[in-house]
Amino acid sequence: MRTFSFDRVTAVEEALSALREPRTQLIAGGTELVNWLKEGIEAPDRIVDITRVPLHGLESGPEVLRLGALARMSDVAADPDVRRDYPVLAESLLRAASAQLRNMATLGGNLMQRTRCPYFRAGTELPCNKRTPDSGCSALHGDTSTHAIFGWSEQCVATHPSDLAVALSALEAEVVARSERGERRIPAAEFHHLPGENPARHNELLPDELITAIEIPARPAPGSHYLKVRERVSYEFAVVSAAAVVRLDGGAIAEARIALGGVAHRPWRLREAEAALPGLDLADADGLRAAIDPAFADARPLPGNEYKVTLGQRAALRALRIAGERA
Ligand SMILES: Cc1cc2nc3c(=O)[nH]c(=O)nc-3n(C[C@H](O)[C@H](O)[C@H](O)COP(=O)(O)OP(=O)(O)OC[C@H]3O[C@@H](n4cnc5c(N)ncnc54)[C@H](O)[C@@H]3O)c2cc1C
Ligand code: SF4
Repeated sequence: MRTFSFDRVTAVEEALSALREPRTQLIAGGTELVNWLKEGIEAPDRIVDITRVPLHGLESGPEVLRLGALARMSDVAADPDVRRDYPVLAESLLRAASAQLRNMATLGGNLMQRTRCPYFRAGTELPCNKRTPDSGCSALHGDTSTHAIFGWSEQCVATHPSDLAVALSALEAEVVARSERGERRIPAAEFHHLPGENPARHNELLPDELITAIEIPARPAPGSHYLKVRERVSYEFAVVSAAAVVRLDGGAIAEARIALGGVAHRPWRLREAEAALPGLDLADADGLRAAIDPAFADARPLPGNEYKVTLGQRAALRALRIAGERA
């Protein structure tokens, strides 16, 4: 058994100073970190509880909706303003994990969770470049059914499991990060790291940074929807998901944003489709399909996951139409 020290901090500055020490892990809801300890993914010398740092609030302003990093998933999903103005956000949270987990889990922790690739999570050590650099990728020669079709490299073909991240990408949110060097904003669409040559890096947050908030632009209520396809109806990660945000002008699309989950190690924005959709009638299913499907021309399915191309196209279309009907 490995021992570690446990401390509690109550202010942002104290959390930042704790991060100066190497081999320190912050703990918020603990629903992910405790699994890492059990699975041997992390073995910190020090764990610092940040749950009493005052970063739990939701502030709805004229420019942005600001969500504290320590807000619980269940609290944000139940917030009346969020449910009314950002259904895609509430739905992405409600369709994640279980009620018990959502009552503990925080927004910051959700973004910081790691891939669910079974080889990464295996109790016995298997070749996995994400877990042990240069050890190889077991998935490439094994089961790729849940893996990426976009943005993967020979080093790693994992997907990122956060539902929240997919909604935030479509909402063009920013992750606010603080360190002793100051504050910076990271676009949610770029927060997670594509594997490239360095799959051991999970996201853009630096070791001395704390996520303090997530900011979502306050836009005139566009329609939005989060559609999650999974193997059972609750308590399951996405096979594929789609977040859509739509503004209509009459019956025609004025602006549309679509992000897919379950297809890459970051939410995958269908930017080519987003450029082709304006002007199309929401009722014109063939036209919408013709705008969405070419955005999958760059998909590189693996032997076990060709199905994700068709599933992704259909999820994107359906999420778009439901979002449009709400606009
Ligand atoms: C069985 C199960 C099913 C799940 N299903 C889903 C699902 O369907 N969809 C989905 O999206 N998620 C799912 N999850 C993941 C779940 O949402 C995350 O475990 C949870 O959101 C993590 O939040 P936490 O507060 O518990 O993080 P913790 O476990 O406390 O922390 C996780 C990591 O985040 C870091 N961290 C936490 N807060 C901050 C911060 N403010 N700044 C910097 N670093 C921080 C910690 O240091 C740690 O490294 C599931 C989890 C489980 C166990
Ligand atoms: S896909 Fe990535 S996480 Fe999975 S075994 Fe390969 S290197 Fe590891």
